[in-house]
Order: sequence, then structure tokens, then C-alpha cells
Amino acid sequence: MAGKFDLVVVGSGPAGYVCAIRAAQHGLKTACIEKWTDNSGKSKLGGTCLNVGCIPSKTLLESSQRYSDAAKNFDDHGIKIDNVSMDIEKMLTRKDNIVSKLTQGVAGLFKANGVTLLQGKAKILAGKKIEITQQNSQTKTIEAENIVIATGSVPIDIPPAPVNHDTIVDSTGALEFKQVPKRLGVIGAGVIGLELGSVWGRLGSEVTVLEALPDFLPAADQQIAKEAAKIFKKQGLDIYLGARVTGSEVKGNEVIVTYLDTKNKETKKTFDKLIVAVGRKPYTENLLAPDCGINLDERCSIFVDDQCQTDVPGIYAVGDVVRGPMLAHKGSEEGIMVADLIAGKTAHMNYDLIPSVIYTHPEIAWVGKTEEELKASGEAYKTGTFAFAANGRALATNDSEGLVKVISSEKTDQVLGVHVIGPAAAELVQQGVIAMEFVASTEDLALTIFSHPTVSEAVHEAALAVDGKAIHAINRKRK
Ligand code: FAD
Ligand code: NAD
Repeated sequence: MAGKFDLVVVGSGPAGYVCAIRAAQHGLKTACIEKWTDNSGKSKLGGTCLNVGCIPSKTLLESSQRYSDAAKNFDDHGIKIDNVSMDIEKMLTRKDNIVSKLTQGVAGLFKANGVTLLQGKAKILAGKKIEITQQNSQTKTIEAENIVIATGSVPIDIPPAPVNHDTIVDSTGALEFKQVPKRLGVIGAGVIGLELGSVWGRLGSEVTVLEALPDFLPAADQQIAKEAAKIFKKQGLDIYLGARVTGSEVKGNEVIVTYLDTKNKETKKTFDKLIVAVGRKPYTENLLAPDCGINLDERCSIFVDDQCQTDVPGIYAVGDVVRGPMLAHKGSEEGIMVADLIAGKTAHMNYDLIPSVIYTHPEIAWVGKTEEELKASGEAYKTGTFAFAANGRALATNDSEGLVKVISSEKTDQVLGVHVIGPAAAELVQQGVIAMEFVASTEDLALTIFSHPTVSEAVHEAALAVDGKAIHAINRKRK
């Protein structure tokens, strides 16, 4: 390892590895430090996203949906399958193989782009020095012109339900159940609770979700959230809102959870497994020497400005460890922005257009403003909706629950928000992101030609509906 690096990235999750690759593409001498190793001591790249987050969860969501289709839904198509059964071990092995393929892919990309991989746990010292503690406990110190901290996040623990990695698990444990729990409890009706609750629910668990807040999906547009609550209830997800967990007791293979409802009435529920999914917190354990000059904000994230610069010039932080939504694509974009800035390019990121997706069935996805946010801000707006029940492709695929909602400015018609619950919502919302990035109006969307038959036509019709011009639905009279 000769000489000083132009850039050292700490952490190889989607924020860190993307940053390192882009920096190397700019010709910067770049290294990435990663502490995570497999059983053989080899570095595991890709962070939470590839190893225990986005990819393994989406893999199990896909497998469980196919199982559920085979067991329940194919009959609607006139396809009879008797005695559908599952092989959980094979399902988990498939997931693990996909994870390995992708993490090895990152290693290959590092090699191809000339990024130096350094194994160990990094600590930022004063003067842009980094101490690395390797697996054999030996330490070495390196220097860098620039440092990017991308150390990610870890699950939040709550005292009434401490994770024991057996009956009470976090999201990582919930990707590894060796058999389908009969009674599954989930604390938190957020993204992880809904996605992993869906996985095991589709495979046969009776799922109970306990959510402390009185509202369901408060960050989503409430028309969409209400539709989602209705659909999930029909699917058998038993969601209790305003349920504050006060304690848990592990008895043999069971866990008894106590919670208070909105009227402060105490209730107990018994589960075979309990997933705690109450959010994640920035990971900065033993990361910052007291005199390194980097500060945290009030939420214990690393404090950064709009361009992810910390309080120390030349040291940046990106991804889950800084403010903003904890999403892989948000971190990756920050990583790219920072690599470009370090290489002397102009760079910016549009924080207003970070899409959110919940990969349930149907999927829920949105970008931009919700109706509730616009009401609160006083900005005049108009809305158009279109139900998938009137979309030919959605009916053909037997996937016609949900709707698309487009919101635009009353004054200029500029699209301000696109909200979807329904088939391929994650892909459809991307059309909204592109439209909004190019400052499109609903008229622009209305004038765009959409292929027939596609579920995308619902986006077209929702845009047309904003001005009462939908063709395949009866338009609401505008007040
Ligand atoms: P991480 O991915 O957490 O990576 C940080 C890396 O830094 C880790 O490899 C860690 O070992 C390393 N590290 C930490 N400290 C040190 C140190 N001192 N020295 C060396 N290395 C260190 N997001 C989405 O956008 N879409 C999804 O579908 C999605 N699904 C998810 C499902 C689950 C179950 C979970 C848990 C998360 C999901 N997320 C999803 C969130 C997503 O995984 C995170 O937003 C993303 O991984 C954050 O990227 P990051 O690079 O900031 O941090
Ligand atoms: P979250 O913030 O989405 O949801 C946590 C939920 O738990 C909230 O509804 C909260 O009100 C509730 N809660 C908190 N404390 C509670 C308590 N004591 N009792 C009952 N409920 C309680 O967090 P998450 O689902 O754990 O996910 C963590 C992060 O990972 C999120 O920031 C998310 O963005 C990211 N993630 C993203 C995806 C995706 O993009 N599809 C998937 C999984 C995770």
C-alpha cells in the first residue's frame, strides 16, 4: 500500500462502494475500508443493502409471493396445482446465492476500477488520519487527502423487547427463520415490519403487527395509506395501531408480549417469533476520535451540509449515517455527488425527488409531495386518480388492486407528487421521478404516448384525470 490515498472511503455499503467506484473512475487513488468478513475471514462487501437488507428481503418477497400465487391465486387463471409445498432451506439458499453473487460483483468492480480494498475497522483520527484495526487485532494508520464516511446504520433496540437472536429477532434474524413460525409478532408497522411480515404471512404465519403510532404509514399520502390498510387486512395481516409494547417474556420457545392500546388497556399476545422493526440508527460506534473535529447532530447522525461535507474540510459523510431517509439509492447518489465534488466537478443532488417504495403486494411507492403536506403548506393543488380495476393489463395479470394518484400545482400544472399502490408501483413511480426531474406538467404526461396494454397507462389516465379528461374512468366534477 504505497503512498497517500486521494480518497479513503469507510464502509462498502451502497453509499460507500458507489462513491469509491466513481472516485476511481475520475482517476483518484482510492481505497475502501470494510470491517465485515465472512467465516473464512474474507471481506463481505455491499453493506446492509446487499447482505442483510434490500437484496435478501426482496429475494424472499419474490419467493414467498410465488408460493402464495401457486397456493392461492393460480386457481383464478384456471391452473390447478395440488399439494403445493415449500422447501424453506432451498428458498434461503437461493437468497444466499444471490447475495454472494452481488457481493462478489462489488469485489470484481473494485478490482476492475482499481479501488484498493482494506480489511478492518476504521477509526477517524485528527489530521485526516485513519487507524485500521484488522481481524488479527493489529492496527495500522493511513493518511488520506479526502475521507468519505459511509458506515451506515444498525437496528434500534427497545428495552421492552430485547433481541435474543432466537425468539426475538431483528430484521437480520427475520431473514433466516429455518421454519415458518406459526404465530409471528412484529413490532413496528414501518417498511421492514410490512415487508418481512408479508414474507412470512404469505408462507403461512399468522402475523400480528403492533404499531405505536395511531396512524398507518403517516409518511405516505393518506389516500394510499388507507387503501393499503384495507388490502393488508384482507390479506390477513393483523395490524394494531396505537399499540405501545411495554414488556416481553420469553418462556421456552414462545414469547409473550404485553402492550397498551389507545385506551391504556393492557393486552398480552403470545408468539413463536417476534421481529423488532422499530427503525434504524446511524452507526458511529468507536468511529470518531474525540479530537477528530467531526460532530454529530441531535439525532446522532454525522453532521453534514447540503453537499455532505462534515465540519472538517475534506471529510464527507454519506448514506444512512447522515440525515435524510435511510435508503440505498439516497446513499448511492450522495456517494456519487461527493466523489464528483472531490474530483473538482460541480455536483448536486435533488433531495426533493428521492422515491420511497414498500415492496409489499401490492407495492406502494411515491415521490414528491403528499396531499396532506400540500394542505399544510397552503399551496393550491389539484389531483387525479385512476384505479387499476379499470386497467386491462392489471386485470389480465390478476393484479388489479390499488390506484395511481397524480398531484399537480393548481397554478402551473407542474407535477408535485406521484403516488401509487398497485402492480409494479416501484417501476411506475420512476416515471413520476423522471417527469418531475424534468419539471413536467400533467399536460406533458397527458400528451405522452403510453403503450397498450400496460399498467403504465394508469399513470397516463391519472394525469388526464387531474383536469377531468380521463378516458377510461368517469371524471369527477371539479369544484
Ligand atoms: P450500509 O449498507 O449499512 O453499509 C455500511 C458498511 O460500513 C457496512 O458494510 C459496515 O460493515 C461498514 N462499516 C461500518 N463501520 C465501519 C468501520 N468503522 N470501519 C469499516 N467498515 C465499517 N433500502 C432501499 O433503498 N430499498 C430497499 O428495498 C431496502 N430494503 C431494506 C431491507 C432491510 C431488511 C433493511 C435492514 C434495510 C433495507 N434498506 C432498503 C435500507 C438500506 O439497506 C440502507 O439504506 C443502505 O444499506 C445504507 O447504505 P450505507 O452504505 O449508508 O450503509
Ligand atoms: P421505519 O421507520 O420504517 O418503521 C418503524 C416503525 O416502528 C414506525 O412506524 C414506528 O412508529 C414504529 N415504532 C417505533 N417504536 C415503536 C415501539 N416501541 N413500539 C411499536 N412501534 C414502534 O423503520 P424500519 O421498518 O425498521 O426500517 C428501518 C429503515 O430501513 C427505514 O428507514 C427504511 O427506510 C429502511 N428500509 C427501507 C426499505 C425499502 O426502501 N423498501 C425496506 C426496509 C427498510
